[in-house]
Amino acid sequence: MTDTPQTTLQKLCHTLQLSETAVQALNIDPNSPFPLKVPAEFLAQIQPNQPNDPLLQQILPLQIEHQTAEGFNQDPVNDLTFNPTPSLIHKYQGRVLLIASPKCDVHCRYCFRRHFPYSEHANTRHWQKALDYIAQDHSIHEVILSGGDPMSLSEKSLVQLIKEIEAIPHIKTLRIHSRTPVVSPSKAPTQALIAWAKQTRLNKVLVIHCNHANELSHQTEQLFSLYKSVGFHLLNQSVLLKNINDQVKILEALSHKLFDQGVLPYYLNQLDRVQGATHFEVDTHTAKLLHNQLRTRLPGYLLPKLVQDLVNKPYKTPLI
Ligand SMILES: *Cc1c(COP(=O)(O)O)cnc(C)c1O
Repeated sequence: MTDTPQTTLQKLCHTLQLSETAVQALNIDPNSPFPLKVPAEFLAQIQPNQPNDPLLQQILPLQIEHQTAEGFNQDPVNDLTFNPTPSLIHKYQGRVLLIASPKCDVHCRYCFRRHFPYSEHANTRHWQKALDYIAQDHSIHEVILSGGDPMSLSEKSLVQLIKEIEAIPHIKTLRIHSRTPVVSPSKAPTQALIAWAKQTRLNKVLVIHCNHANELSHQTEQLFSLYKSVGFHLLNQSVLLKNINDQVKILEALSHKLFDQGVLPYYLNQLDRVQGATHFEVDTHTAKLLHNQLRTRLPGYLLPKLVQDLVNKPYKTPLI
């Protein structure tokens, strides 16, 4: 029997020992079309009996998601206007992004692809067309696997796809963007991926998506060191999120903990203005102030770049 969203929410509240009053005050939306989805390992990192826990706030469907605001829409970064073949996004020079899987282990409420039309993309039957496109454009030297989450593919499919990419001579770098290593470290691919990584000619980059130091555990540390040991460069990208990580102390702690686990901060993203996420937005003025304070506390190599994905810009735009 599969759980209805309601029972899953009930279980979650029970596991986290949230009182009925606390749950009522949160104003949960049990019928969200983008339902609650959270893996057990991420759940285990949430503090019990803390309705404001920064990890809980990232995954709990709330009524406030129905709030609309000007500029917030279903495709905030204009993915679909840079879409030469289904599942491929070619927006920037020299690199393409492949929506390798429609699925993700966790439904982050601020996900900028929460309304993405996955049924028309992200299907293995589109891979050949995408690979043909990449093969005929010699200006492309890096392929980025994204989603959904590429690590939600079976390990066999993932490695098969990667080998097809590797077979294109002008590709030099494979980059995987994934939240799986953070939210579900025991589910992240290892054996076949590690075996491939040991002997590939490609540069390998893994960008994990982590927003708060509490998301990192002994399990993530072990997994990262495995990926590092076979030559992956490990970077992190975060989203600046109101009431979750919009304090200098929290961002500072995140950078240090990432470094302790072998990961360098890469981007701190200003929120993509996706419908349903208005309440997560930190205004640009505050974001810049925070980043300036962060700069005074961290060595340069632990300071993420504060950027925004502005439509029609051929790069992630630095805000500072
Ligand atoms: C963010 C993004 C990239 C990667 O940009 P980098 O600055 O290289 O990290 C590539 N393609 C698309 C479509 C993107 O949105």
